Amino acid sequence: MSNSTADKLIFLGTGTSQGVPVITCDCEVCRSADNKNKRLRTSLYVHVQGVDMVIDAGPDFRTQMLANAIQNIDCILQTHEHQDHTGGLDDVRPFNHKNQKPLDLFGEKRCLQAIRREYAYIFRKKKYPGAPEIMLHEIHAKPFVFNGIEIEPIRVKHWNLPIFGFKIGNWAYITDASYIAAKEMKKLQNLDILIINALQHKPHYSHFTLAQALEVIAKLQPKRAYLTHISHRLDYRIEQEKLPPNVSFAYDGLTIPL
Ligand SMILES: [Zn+2]
Ligand SMILES: [Zn+2]
Repeated sequence: MSNSTADKLIFLGTGTSQGVPVITCDCEVCRSADNKNKRLRTSLYVHVQGVDMVIDAGPDFRTQMLANAIQNIDCILQTHEHQDHTGGLDDVRPFNHKNQKPLDLFGEKRCLQAIRREYAYIFRKKKYPGAPEIMLHEIHAKPFVFNGIEIEPIRVKHWNLPIFGFKIGNWAYITDASYIAAKEMKKLQNLDILIINALQHKPHYSHFTLAQALEVIAKLQPKRAYLTHISHRLDYRIEQEKLPPNVSFAYDGLTIPL
């Protein structure tokens, strides 16, 4: 049921795990009227060669599907199992109904085990009628193909947790990284587009700071880079103008033609 419109990416969410604004916070960014300071949980819609994919389905999934009028998803690519990346999986039901089949989800073993545990009702043998239908596919640290699209998982570390970024064609998406080994950095050279996480200025144990993300970008030299998984400690307008010319903060709804 895919459509054949031009290849593109849409940032469905660009916020860190609590989103922005943060509940109960009255900081400048959380009170900001600027839409670019409103960040749902991190997720990316991908449309390539007629195939619709979403990278991560966090707790804002339903809102994101509606806000961007997403009409189809053929699969979900899961970077890791944290709730801000998996919390929306119950809301794949409309796509089950529309396509009359389970939704394919790709993730590594530990991630799939967590999804099975947290969504036990989905994977029960005799399940409640109307529960979501998700087909889990285990992936490893090597390229795989879905509907003719080659997808290369990129290994990064999220504190001590090994998680995946994804490279498709000449662009790559890395979120929740705090470390990328040299071997993986090699796979990210000469990209047209690199999307990478940048949390805040202050050092953090499991996420790149803005300075660390810019350092990775400077090493890899992609034609363009976009920052995502951003906290309420970075104001779009104030920070954007300090960035190098090939780097931008992503914001919710930002669409990039491929
Ligand atoms: Zn996250
Ligand atoms: Zn705040």
